[in-house]
Amino acid sequence: MHKLSSIVFLFIILITKLSCVQNQNPNKKDGFENKFGIVIHGGAGTILKKNMSDEKEQQYKAKLKEAIQVGYEILKNNGTSIDAVEKSIIVLENSPLFNAGKGSVFSNRKKNEMDASIMCGKTLNAGAVSGVTNVKNPISLALAVMNQSEHVMLSNKGAESFAKVQGLKLVDSTYFYTKSRYRSLLKTIKTEKYGTVGAVALDKFGNLSSGTSTGGMTNKKWGRIGDSPIIGAGTYANNKTCAISSTGWGEFFIRGVIAYDISAMMEYQNLSLQEAAYKVIQEKLKKMGGSGGIIGIDRNLNSVVEFNTKGMYRATYINDSIQIKIYGN
Ligand code: ASP
Repeated sequence: MHKLSSIVFLFIILITKLSCVQNQNPNKKDGFENKFGIVIHGGAGTILKKNMSDEKEQQYKAKLKEAIQVGYEILKNNGTSIDAVEKSIIVLENSPLFNAGKGSVFSNRKKNEMDASIMCGKTLNAGAVSGVTNVKNPISLALAVMNQSEHVMLSNKGAESFAKVQGLKLVDSTYFYTKSRYRSLLKTIKTEKYGTVGAVALDKFGNLSSGTSTGGMTNKKWGRIGDSPIIGAGTYANNKTCAISSTGWGEFFIRGVIAYDISAMMEYQNLSLQEAAYKVIQEKLKKMGGSGGIIGIDRNLNSVVEFNTKGMYRATYINDSIQIKIYGN
C-alpha cells in the first residue's frame, strides 16, 4: 500500500512538473500571441574596453548572437520559454569564452566544479545541480532534475549518477580544461574571479522561464557553492511577476535573495520590473558590498539588464530587434 501511494505521489509530481514543457496552442484570447522575447547574459565583472582586443570582442558578440538566435527561433516557432532558455544556455556552455560548461573556471583543487539551475514561471517548478565535474551541459541536467525527479537540487556524485541514468552526455573532466582559465587559477587574477551565463524568456503562451549556469568562482574551496544553483538567488521565474537570472559575487546574491527579491517587490509593492531591478542591484546589493547584475523579463515583455559592475556580456532579442552589448553605459 505504502509503495502504491509512493508511486502515485511520484506520478502526480511528474505530471505537474511536465506541464511546463508541454506545448499547447498559443492562446489568442489572452492576447499573448506574438508576445515573446529573450534576454541572455554571459557574466558581469570588470570588463573594460581597454583590456579587450577587437578580435576578442567580436568573438564574444558573435557567440552571444548565436546563443540568443537559437532561443529566439524556438520562441518564434511556438516553442516554450523553458526550451529556449535551455538551448540558448547550451550554446554558451559549449563555448570556451564564458565561465560555464566548457569554459568553466578552476577550483582550488584544480577541477571544474559546475552549478546550474532552471525554473518554470508557470508551475514554479525548478531543478538545480551543484558541484558536477563531468556533465557536458549542466543546464540540461538541471532541467532533467526538474522534469524527471521529485527533487529540486542534486549535488556532486549523486547528480552525476542521475545524469548517467538520464542518458545525458558525460565527458572526461579534461574536456573542461582551457589554458586561459588554468592560467587564471595559477595567477588567481582578481578581475577574472567570476562570470556566468544565463537566460530568461517569455513564450507565446505567456509563460516565463529562467536559467543560470556557471563554473563558479576561480580558486573556490571546500565545495563552495554560489548563488547560480540557488532558486531565489541566482534564478527565479514566476508568471505573476518576472523571470530573473543573476551573475556576480554569489555570496551576496544568496544573502540578498536577489532574484526573488525583485519578483517580491513586483508582487507585493507593485513596482515595475525596471524599478525593482534598480532598487535591488543599485541600492540594496551595493549597500551590502556586493557586485554583479541581473537580466529580467516580465509577462508584458518588458525587459531589464541591471548591473553595478563595469560591464556585463548581454543580449536582448525582442520584437525582431536584437541588441548585443558588453560594457557599461
Ligand atoms: N554568481 C556566480 C557564483 O558566485 C559567479 C558569477 O556569476 O560570476 O558562483
